[in-house]
Amino acid sequence: MTKKKEEIPGCSFCGRPATIADLIPSGDGSSYICVDCVDNIYHTLEQMDIIAPSKQKAKKRGGKNGSAQEELTLDSVPSPRHIKAFLDQYVVGQEDAKKYLSVAVYNHYKRLLQKPADNGNDNDSVDIEKSNIVIVGPTGTGKTLLAKTIARLLNVPFAIVDATVLTEAGYVGEDIESLLTRLLQASDYDVARAERGIVFIDEIDKIARKGDNPSITRDVSGEGVQQGLLKLLEGSVVNVPPQGGRKHPDQPMIAVDTKNILFICGGAFEGIERKIAQRLNTHVVGYSTDPTRQRLERENMMQYVAPQDLRSFGLIPEIIGRLPILTHLLPLDRDALRKILTEPKNAIIKQYVKLLEMDGVKLTFAAETLDLIVDKAIEYKLGARGLRSIVETVMIDAMYEIPASDIKEFTVTRDYALSKLQNANFEI
Ligand code: ADP
Repeated sequence: MTKKKEEIPGCSFCGRPATIADLIPSGDGSSYICVDCVDNIYHTLEQMDIIAPSKQKAKKRGGKNGSAQEELTLDSVPSPRHIKAFLDQYVVGQEDAKKYLSVAVYNHYKRLLQKPADNGNDNDSVDIEKSNIVIVGPTGTGKTLLAKTIARLLNVPFAIVDATVLTEAGYVGEDIESLLTRLLQASDYDVARAERGIVFIDEIDKIARKGDNPSITRDVSGEGVQQGLLKLLEGSVVNVPPQGGRKHPDQPMIAVDTKNILFICGGAFEGIERKIAQRLNTHVVGYSTDPTRQRLERENMMQYVAPQDLRSFGLIPEIIGRLPILTHLLPLDRDALRKILTEPKNAIIKQYVKLLEMDGVKLTFAAETLDLIVDKAIEYKLGARGLRSIVETVMIDAMYEIPASDIKEFTVTRDYALSKLQNANFEI
């Protein structure tokens, strides 16, 4: 017979009553122990080496046991083809970048599995060096999306950080080391795990040197930051402020070795096409009056991007040397935008269909409506980011009215979409 909570005497160890603690009865039901006391005893036994530490718990506590090292085997690592196939489900086009990223991430895992060379005497031991990556591509073409999608697949800590907030130590802004704070947070402050993680640094182009010549005046958010970043990319032990922001003398630092951290950098590098064109000795981009031609030129140029173009753009050679893999994203054309609307696993249109499905309503978009949405995104130069706001504008009234109505089917026609866009002051 089960006793009522009030009848139970309470935890025999801490004395807390059953009304505030979860109690477990002893075999004969004469005494009780609460879950917290069980946990404490378990922890004490672990510390006394009487029982083996649980992986889950060790991870939570930030201990070195249970770090990614234990879980990682080559069998558990997705192959480059597998990684690419996964990216294909979410990211439209950008084939080159997907391939480069897949290989780089796979090799990163292999590096992590590499046994340290025996005293350096072993002639056969090949030290696999890390290959940080730089992705060049116009804004809104999928750099962050690629990074986020890859993060879903991985079982190493992953952090996305923005280079624009960084300044040289001693100036207003964040110290370079704070880049690693996010990674520490992503690994629950398990330093060993963080040291094997991946950091995506967005807007790397914003720390380019402002002029072509090394600075005469101080360039606190440019070259100085690059020098600082170099230290991280090369691999060194840095002191990281656990809460981010500025270093404070009273804030204890966490030492993190960046030797095995993979850095993926992304940037729009606005205007780099001109540098590429100059190098290739073709005519300068952007002066053509025909917009289609202008776009095609930009598109064509990007695929020839080479390390020396990053240098002309203002990255210092040492940084470029530490980012040996250079890949590019292409501007999204009409076709790509149309696919982005409907094809990825979490495509915007699929999300709306799902939302109304939950109200028992079958939502469909006419093919001309989708074409219209793409046209508007192109017309207002909103790119892929604009697709969502256009769909939101078209759908707001329907999403407001339909759930409380008798409507069981709803088709978004071109005329309906057009009228909604007109009302919302989207010029037609
Ligand atoms: P950026 O290159 O500036 O980092 P994002 O990756 O943030 O651009 O893209 C902005 C949004 O546009 C994404 O959230 C996504 O919805 C959409 N998008 C951009 N490029 C693609 C793509 N190639 N495939 C699918 N969706 C994309």
